[in-house]
Amino acid sequence: MNPRVYATALRTRFRGLEVRDGVLIHGPAGWGEFSPFWDYDAAESTAWWRAAHEAATLGWPEPVRTHIPVNVTVPAVGPGRAAAIVAASGGCTTAKVKVAEPGQSVADEQARLEAVRGALGPGGRIRIDANGAWDLETALDRLAVLDRAAGGLEYAEQPCADVADLATLRRRGSVPIAADESIRRAEDPMAVVRAEAADVVVLKVQPLGGVRAAIRIAEEVGLPVVVSSALETSVGIAAGLALAAALPTLEHACGLATVHLLAADVVADPLLPVDGRIEVRRPEPDPVALAATLADDAVTARWLDRLQTVAALAGLPVPESAEAVGEGSR
Ligand SMILES: [Mg+2]
Repeated sequence: MNPRVYATALRTRFRGLEVRDGVLIHGPAGWGEFSPFWDYDAAESTAWWRAAHEAATLGWPEPVRTHIPVNVTVPAVGPGRAAAIVAASGGCTTAKVKVAEPGQSVADEQARLEAVRGALGPGGRIRIDANGAWDLETALDRLAVLDRAAGGLEYAEQPCADVADLATLRRRGSVPIAADESIRRAEDPMAVVRAEAADVVVLKVQPLGGVRAAIRIAEEVGLPVVVSSALETSVGIAAGLALAAALPTLEHACGLATVHLLAADVVADPLLPVDGRIEVRRPEPDPVALAATLADDAVTARWLDRLQTVAALAGLPVPESAEAVGEGSR
């Protein structure tokens, strides 16, 4: 029963992925998710394991809020589909739109942003995410064009990979800058702060090593935080909600409404937004949903091997659990 390897198709290709898979583990404090993307090596995956281990063995700090406002995520789709995603978002008034997709043109991005603005209305907020794909000159040009197409951008997330370029963009352009990869994949997240390279930081529980570790980084950075998912099932999303719920202040919608990007979830009552917010709770995996998302033997073997390697490297063994699925801690 423990650990359980899941695999599910994505509804739309995202981050170059068509399938999402990972491991759920159970311990005395509940369920945790360990799902580093496959391009992350064992060393980088140790943080992801610390997050799952914390969820299963320690649980999370006390929440200071009961609901988390969230953005709808719009992948690199056409304008009609983009508008439909916003309309079906469960009342989200902030949209995060993916840009810099290989093979797409500026015109594709403009059309997508115009469609999202049309669907959100003038009061909505639109942010874009380029995943560090642009060089400085491209970013300067694109941000001006896309800011106009969107009718104003809340911020641009990681337009360039380089921290110095982010700082230049922030000085020379008018669109606020958010740092994502520069925080979670950097050896020194504080470099962003020293360079005055961001207005907002994006924090993700798994890559940062757990809820407590992310809270410490938020305190050190001292900038407004947006908590985002790593495209997890509701088991992983619950940890993101716990982080967002424990932060002393939360000024922006969080990127935790991503469960609908998965074709199937591992719980019966997924963490989806209602009126643009997700309730802070921790659903348990459901036996029927788990059976429907059970990975095949090859994928299971690959994950269990990876789990043992990473757990050993992190010095944190996989917790023992005698509990059957659906009979875990409540
Ligand atoms: Mg991002």
